[in-house]
Amino acid sequence: MSNDVPNSDDCDIDLAAEKSQAEAVAVAAAAWRSAWPNHCTACSGWGGTSYLEMHGFRGGSGEQVFDPCGALPRASTCHRCGQDGLSEDGDGPCRHCGWNYDDGEPQ
Ligand SMILES: [Zn+2]
Ligand SMILES: [Zn+2]
Repeated sequence: MSNDVPNSDDCDIDLAAEKSQAEAVAVAAAAWRSAWPNHCTACSGWGGTSYLEMHGFRGGSGEQVFDPCGALPRASTCHRCGQDGLSEDGDGPCRHCGWNYDDGEPQ
């Protein structure tokens, strides 16, 4: 007589998938860090953080806001390769690695 709950296995599969996903990100992040050892650790190489700012109450519209990283003393320093590759105002793309606020440590 089997009392197996039909969906009981799904939980395990989801957990395993979530774990391997996290491991894959960790591996990618380690590879990224070794590729860009001089990256800005304050922003993990992204040049800033972006977040969704919601207006009004739930159901209201949201706006993607980019908050530039100010950790580097010179705006022209690339947040990924750490070299002086951006414009004076910190605009990309980087002359050294081509980074343009489009790549950072996988997370
Ligand atoms: Zn930074
Ligand atoms: Zn660069």
